Amino acid sequence: MSFPNPTQCPICHKSNNTDSLTGRCTRCQPIRIDELPPDFQAYARSARFQKYKEFAVGALIGPVLIFIYFFYSAFSKSAPQGFLWLLIGGSVIFLGLSVRTLVRKKDLLTRYYRLAYVMQHGKPIDAEMQYEVVSGKSSSRRFFNVSQLAPGQTWPEGVSHRIEVDIPPRSEAKAVTYDPWKRFFEGFNPADKPKLWGKVYFDTDRSGSAVICIHDGLFLSVSENNAVKFSR
Ligand SMILES: [Zn+2]
Repeated sequence: MSFPNPTQCPICHKSNNTDSLTGRCTRCQPIRIDELPPDFQAYARSARFQKYKEFAVGALIGPVLIFIYFFYSAFSKSAPQGFLWLLIGGSVIFLGLSVRTLVRKKDLLTRYYRLAYVMQHGKPIDAEMQYEVVSGKSSSRRFFNVSQLAPGQTWPEGVSHRIEVDIPPRSEAKAVTYDPWKRFFEGFNPADKPKLWGKVYFDTDRSGSAVICIHDGLFLSVSENNAVKFSR
């Protein structure tokens, strides 16, 4: 298995936008969502929706608060003026933050493109895993815990046996969610999480980024795994 090294782009003659794995200059040849395999498109669409939703919420918070302020002060003569400046200042900060998230998530498609390449060209590890959802106060996190490997398989050194994955689109989640009633009638404890055999494809960047395939579901390790690599 060999991957092309980071190369100079023949068009812009630079290598800083060239993906180290696929050798593609993402500036001269931006990745289109429809180039990705269907399962990856589902992830990209749901991430894009999330991105614009976050932006819209962040950008609207300030104006909505200012509107409420004017609505309120129209009825009461005592509305403090300093408070209005506070709201305006707050709106600007929220707007700035939402623009920042929008810019930061711009290279989402590169990540999916890379992971799709990993899956199409990499050699998978056969492993038995348990899917786990850990609910927090405001959000929840999802993990695959590796319980055993198929004979002859080796797990990459230094990589945890617990892989955190992105929230799967509904089309993917079907592969690991199960009906507790059905489990009960099949003689299982509904609280037990089933152990499922699947394939794990690791990115050769040694960051621990991985694609997990179970039945016909596809799961992607969280983007933080990539961030660790790039900050090093
Ligand atoms: Zn280029």
